[in-house]
Amino acid sequence: MITAGSSRLEAWDSGTGPSLVFIHGVGTSGEMWRAAREKGRMRQALFSIAIATVLVATANSQSSAAFSKWSPGTLDIHQINTGRGNAAFLMLPDGTTLLIDAGDGGNPPPRGTAPKPDASRTPAEWIVRYLRAAGATQVDYAMLTHFHNDHMGAMPEVMKSIPVRTMLDRAWPDYDYPSRDHAEFKRSDFVAYRELLRQKQTNGERFVPGRADQIVLRHVPAKYPEFRVQNVLANGEVWTGTGAATQRLFPDLETVPQADWPTENMTSLGIRLSYGKFDYYSGGDIPGRPRPGYPQWHDVETPVAKVVGQVEAAVLNHHGNRDSTNASWVSALRPRLWIIPVWSSDHPAHDVLDRMLSERLYPGPRDVLATNMIEANRIVIGPMLDRLASAQGHIVIRVSAGGASYQVFILDDTADTYRVIKTIGPFVSE
Ligand SMILES: [Zn+2]
Repeated sequence: MITAGSSRLEAWDSGTGPSLVFIHGVGTSGEMWRAAREKGRMRQALFSIAIATVLVATANSQSSAAFSKWSPGTLDIHQINTGRGNAAFLMLPDGTTLLIDAGDGGNPPPRGTAPKPDASRTPAEWIVRYLRAAGATQVDYAMLTHFHNDHMGAMPEVMKSIPVRTMLDRAWPDYDYPSRDHAEFKRSDFVAYRELLRQKQTNGERFVPGRADQIVLRHVPAKYPEFRVQNVLANGEVWTGTGAATQRLFPDLETVPQADWPTENMTSLGIRLSYGKFDYYSGGDIPGRPRPGYPQWHDVETPVAKVVGQVEAAVLNHHGNRDSTNASWVSALRPRLWIIPVWSSDHPAHDVLDRMLSERLYPGPRDVLATNMIEANRIVIGPMLDRLASAQGHIVIRVSAGGASYQVFILDDTADTYRVIKTIGPFVSE
């Protein structure tokens, strides 16, 4: 056992891998990555050194300890870096488990991130190994924020590899919004996913906006009355903040040209998870800045921001793509921690990072945590990237019993030994 600050650290995994060896971004096998790897190797190596230097220079504290085990009463939020899309795993206070997305998508380097820890396993295998190392024997709830491969591409394989009891998505069982012939309903990963739900080893359930009793603690809920998951939105239907009431943001589709219909990103579902004073928001890829000439209702963020309000931690909408994270969103949520699930060189966009860091939009300190910065981000954004609190690694927010405080642990993503390479905080929940 190792003591660091007020945290008790025990070995999370008895792996014997290297302690704090920072190797950036390149897979070790797989044809798909080879060409890009050869071309970009020298530049990647130089960039690795630069980012490693930033990590060392800005660290609150450095450690090579394995991450400590979850303990009852604690809430652990893991943003897992596979380099291939979004995946977040939550160990709730009574041991109930929640998986938000399991992506397998994105561009190969140098435009996108390489698979993490490497390409020797699929993203689904890495995700399941991570879950098991974190102590999960099953997934009580999984949810898909929306049906894009960087959010769902690995989910069918995850469902076959570890028991998933309940799967929440935006359209079960009919899958008819915005229409039955919606392009995303024809993709191979979606077809495989739907077939698995038909086999009923996993119970499908439609995520219902407004409800706060759909994702609940399954083991000893009475012990943690201050824990709550509020369903905020899905398919443009948004909780009003009162009871379970909702309002619709999108017009009836018969009244608008098909070219203006909501995109898959706009239909994303979102939750606000609260534990005492601690609040966390995660909501897929909703946009906040309509494409040129598109109707104003394509801004989903602004009305959603009003009902979400201030949170301690927020996953960046659409990975921080240029159409997301508008000024209303930033000034309403005011998070202490921004979490960016990165798979591309425009995650985050330059102007999105500018808004996140703006003290005109909200005052006070904040930490931006990215899973996987790459050389292309560095070239475009430049020195502003030095202001990231973390640029590489799995991001774990550990919330203390009752939610009064929280701390960030950055875990090495180059191997499945999950060593802590940096800690940030603790912070007091507001
Ligand atoms: Zn996405």
